[in-house]
Amino acid sequence: INILAIESSCDETSASVISDGKVLNNIIATQSVHEKYGGVVPELASRAHQQHLIPVVTEAMNSSGLSKKDLSAVAFTKGPGLMGSLMVGVSFAKSFAYALGIPLIEVNHMQAHILAHFIEEPKPQFPFICLTVSGGHTQLVLVKDFLDMEIIGETTDDAVGEAFDKTAKLLGLPYPGGPLIDKYAKEGNPHAFAFPVSDMPGLDFSFSGIKTAVLYFLRDKIKEHPDFIQDNLPDICASVQYTLVKMLLQKLKKAAKFHRIKEIAIAGGVSANSGLREALQLESEKSGWELYVPKFEYCTDNAAMIAMAAHYKFLKGEFSGLDVVPEARMRF
Ligand code: ATP
Ligand code: MG
Ligand code: FE
Repeated sequence: INILAIESSCDETSASVISDGKVLNNIIATQSVHEKYGGVVPELASRAHQQHLIPVVTEAMNSSGLSKKDLSAVAFTKGPGLMGSLMVGVSFAKSFAYALGIPLIEVNHMQAHILAHFIEEPKPQFPFICLTVSGGHTQLVLVKDFLDMEIIGETTDDAVGEAFDKTAKLLGLPYPGGPLIDKYAKEGNPHAFAFPVSDMPGLDFSFSGIKTAVLYFLRDKIKEHPDFIQDNLPDICASVQYTLVKMLLQKLKKAAKFHRIKEIAIAGGVSANSGLREALQLESEKSGWELYVPKFEYCTDNAAMIAMAAHYKFLKGEFSGLDVVPEARMRF
């Protein structure tokens, strides 16, 4: 089984070829046009996907050593994501599959983020709990099988990646600011400033409060001391990061306890965060968790995870018709 997979949900154009469940490559073109706007501009993202898609697919096909006639199926991200961006990938996948006379496989992007754990060893055992933390989502997922997942908790407002990026913006850092907060936090004191820890009922999260708290905190401090940000950047970053990580850990611990599961995985771009990784490591030792963290390349948006999900769907014979359309707010 050889599958070509396409990812185009946000601002990464990516293609990957998977052969009998083994990922052969993962070609990614990152869009830099958005940097100067402080966030992803949907219209510009669609145009960039249109530009990058064919070169990215060509590179993936060439480096796989396979020819088009060796392909068994074409897979694509159906959603969730930006409608215009998804449309570019879906239209391409449809025409490619139609021209080659092979089936189409639709993939849910959030399910794929979790299946990224099956690209390489070590692989988690079912059932496991995955904390998916990305730019658009914050979810606790009970993973019962490759294609059998249940959301047991999620954010009721902003995603944690958004909280990182919006804080960074308030601090005058460029987009995406998450990695920069992480970098400055390493030199700061996480207890220098205290921010409120939200506590939602059950396993849900809320990250909009901290954004507002940081906004007012900075406004008041700057009144007294105009250079407050410049003089305290590492301490501010460390304190905000500490609070965000604490909120994530609090719910993950609750979920693990409630479901009596010790197989714990993380997925999504924020799983690159070193504060989160350290806290997870500590908690794993304390609670006897088996912790799974994918390679960074497979944490942020990539087509290898789409290919992995498509492989399992192929085995189950789950194909889509040519009338399939993207779904911006797709659920599991
Ligand atoms: P979604 O998958 O929900 O549609 P997305 O695909 O845009 O969203 P990802 O690419 O998985 O999200 O992750 C991007 C997010 O990860 C950004 O918010 C970015 O700031 C954040 N991020 C990346 N590295 C770090 C880090 N080291 N610390 C904190 N945040 C980080
Ligand atoms: Mg991205
Ligand atoms: Fe993503």
